[in-house]
Amino acid sequence: MANHRQPANNTDLFNPTEEHLALREMVRAFAEREVWPQAREYDRLEKFNRKLFEKAGDLGLHGITVPESMGGAGMDALASVIVHEELSAADPGFCLAYLAHAMLFVNNFYQNANAEQRARVLPKVISGKWVAGMGMSEPQAGTDALAMRTTAVRDGDDYILNGAKMWITNGAVDDTELGDCFLIYAKTGTAKGRALSSFLVEKGMPGFRLGQRIKDKLGMRASPTAELVFEDCRVPLANRIGEEGDSTMHMMRNLEIERLTLAAMSLGIARKSIEIMNNYASERHAFGQPIRAFGQIQKHLADSYAEYMAGRTYVYATAAELRLDSHGNRLDSDGVKLYCTTMAKNVADRAIQTLGGYGYVGEYHVERLWRDAKLLEIGGGTLEAHQKNIAQDLRRVATLR
Ligand SMILES: Cc1cc2nc3c(=O)[nH]c(=O)nc-3n(C[C@H](O)[C@H](O)[C@H](O)COP(=O)(O)OP(=O)(O)OC[C@H]3O[C@@H](n4cnc5c(N)ncnc54)[C@H](O)[C@@H]3O)c2cc1C
Repeated sequence: MANHRQPANNTDLFNPTEEHLALREMVRAFAEREVWPQAREYDRLEKFNRKLFEKAGDLGLHGITVPESMGGAGMDALASVIVHEELSAADPGFCLAYLAHAMLFVNNFYQNANAEQRARVLPKVISGKWVAGMGMSEPQAGTDALAMRTTAVRDGDDYILNGAKMWITNGAVDDTELGDCFLIYAKTGTAKGRALSSFLVEKGMPGFRLGQRIKDKLGMRASPTAELVFEDCRVPLANRIGEEGDSTMHMMRNLEIERLTLAAMSLGIARKSIEIMNNYASERHAFGQPIRAFGQIQKHLADSYAEYMAGRTYVYATAAELRLDSHGNRLDSDGVKLYCTTMAKNVADRAIQTLGGYGYVGEYHVERLWRDAKLLEIGGGTLEAHQKNIAQDLRRVATLR
């Protein structure tokens, strides 16, 4: 899947090239055939579907933004939006595990690792044989990420890591087993903007262990979440990613694609919720007519559709401009996540309301979509964090384009 930029159809905002359209068709077929049928069960069991994850690897999805020369699909940010939108329409929980692997680890690692590290690790994570994640948040520091306490102290040809990372998606692949590798941010100094470095930490490294396995989440239950603990964990210098002190920039850059793809996940949730409530509104009769004849049901449908299309247009416009190898679009990567996550939660909520009692139980899926949507208002930046960032960035903008 080469990254050609010729539009397939100038008016198709959502599939600007033949490759984007082919990708969407391929992922939608996979999602409908293999992801949707397992979603309810894995949500109920609170289990990560590793086999399905490997199948996503067979389709080339884990290296969607990595060049073909390195074993990836060689596509752009807009392509990653397509994949997240389609997978999330079937199973947001599974899609969150995919996002943590493909965006927070693979894309982040590819952008910042050296040639030796890329050659050593990318084949394992792109194939899906290794499950990976990223550790930024800590028990005492989430929104205030730069207040993290995990330290990495140089000791000859190693670094010694001490601390803990909290809420790490793919931290565990089941109740007892760690994920395979992680990109871990740690403090290596105090200089403003140069205090953070990042490390490739692999399962089996001395001093690295699984902390609490976080269970009983409201939603996103098919994505495993865990605490990671580092006790005098010895990490070779060869596993430091980039130069010492460079990783505040790596983190800021990766947050942009993270927020964009979390917004894309919201689109998938909203689309599926609208499809379900739209069909139900025609099928369900009350007072001698389909419930879509009632103005209040029409409002649920119409408001949902219009808000979904507004969010979708904003996400694709932002994706078309986002460059993976630089940063500088925080305003709109925060903007799309701020708007689309609450939009998706509200749309899923209206879908439950439209279905009445049937909306409140698992069979029709909308309650699961609503529970999954709520996480998107918290993970990857809370709504309040986006409001703070947007207000800060707007201070530098006198007139809007
Ligand atoms: C299911 C799940 C998966 C996750 N996966 C990962 C992962 O893979 N990797 C990772 O690193 N992290 C992950 N996270 C962590 C997530 O990014 C954090 O939960 C999030 O950033 C919020 O941090 P916090 O929970 O510490 O809340 P806090 O930062 O403590 O915030 C608590 C409240 O205070 C508000 N607040 C804080 N600061 C301000 C401010 N300046 N102005 C206004 N309000 C403020 C917040 O908005 C929030 O309402 C995950 C979280 C969950 C729940």
